[in-house]
Amino acid sequence: DTRDIATPSKTKEILHKHGFTFKKSLGQNFLTEPNVLRKIVATAEIDDTTNVIEVGPGIGALTEQLAKSAKEVLAFEIDDRLIPVLADTLHEYKNVKVIHQDVLKADLIKLTAENFTDNTLPLKVVANLPYYITTPIMMHFLESDLPVAEMVVMMQKEVADRISAEPGTKAYGSLSIAVQYFMEAKLAFIVPKTVFVPQPNVDSAILKLTRRSEPAVDVINEKEFFKLTKAAFQLRRKTLWNNLLHAYGKDDTTKNWLTKSLTQAAIDPKRRGETLSLSEFAALSNAMMSISK
Ligand code: SAM
Repeated sequence: DTRDIATPSKTKEILHKHGFTFKKSLGQNFLTEPNVLRKIVATAEIDDTTNVIEVGPGIGALTEQLAKSAKEVLAFEIDDRLIPVLADTLHEYKNVKVIHQDVLKADLIKLTAENFTDNTLPLKVVANLPYYITTPIMMHFLESDLPVAEMVVMMQKEVADRISAEPGTKAYGSLSIAVQYFMEAKLAFIVPKTVFVPQPNVDSAILKLTRRSEPAVDVINEKEFFKLTKAAFQLRRKTLWNNLLHAYGKDDTTKNWLTKSLTQAAIDPKRRGETLSLSEFAALSNAMMSISK
C-alpha cells in the first residue's frame, strides 16, 4: 500500500484498525492533507544531509514525509497509545526513531547525541505542535542550547502572529522578543482548519524560524534581559515605569536606579513596553546591569 498516511481515507483506516480515539487534552488534531505536509517539508528545505526532530508525530503523517527527505528523524510522542500505531505505520522507514516521552521533560542534548548517527549534520525542528503547549515547547528548544538551525512549526495563527510581531503592534510581546532574539521569524503560510481531524476551532500558520549567526542584540546578561522584557509586558495597559516598579520594587533606591538606567538608555518611562524595540530593551537592560543600585 503506497498511499500516504495523511490521505483522509488512509488516516481513517489507521484510526479504525487501532481503535484510536482522539484526546483533546493532548492537542490531537491530525493533518489529513498530503499537499500541506509536502509544503511544510519544502519550507524546511530538508535533504539527506539534514537531521530532523519532530514533536508529536501522531500517527506519523508528517513523520513519513520527513523520513522520505531527511537523513534521520527523531520524534517525541507522549501518548502511549500511539507508540504501537507508529511502529505499524512507519515500519518501512528505517531512518525514524520514536521516543515515547513528554518533549518538555526530554533531555534534548543527550537524546540527540545518543540517537542521531551523525551529529555534525544540520539539525532542524519540524512539527505540527500540540497547541496547548506551543510556547513552552518553543522555549524548551530555544533554551536547550541545542544547535537548531531552523524550526518550521505549525501553530495557531494567533500565536504565530505574536511570535513574528514587530514593535508597536498589538501582537508584540515578550514571546516575540524571546524568539526573535535567537531566530529570524517569518510567517510561511496559513493552513485552514478544514484539513485536520478533528477540526480545531481556529486557523493555523506555519512559522519558519532561522537561527541568527549571533543574537539580534548585544546584552550583558541574557537572563536579566529576558526578565526585563517579561516585566515590561506584565501589566498590559500600563506604562513602562509602572511595570518596572511592579517587577523590581517601589522603594526609593530602586526608583533611583531605574530612573538613572532609563536616562542612560534614553528611554521615556511614560512609554508602553510594546513600543520598545529589541535594541532599546537591550540598552535598558545593559544600563541596569552597569549602574549599581
Ligand atoms: N504530527 C501529527 C500530524 O501532523 O498529524 C500530529 C500532530 S497533533 C497537533 C500533536 C501531537 O503531539 C499529538 O500526537 C499528541 O499526542 C502529541 N503531544 C502532545 N503533547 C506532547 C508532549 N508534551 N510531548 C510530546 N508529544 C506531545
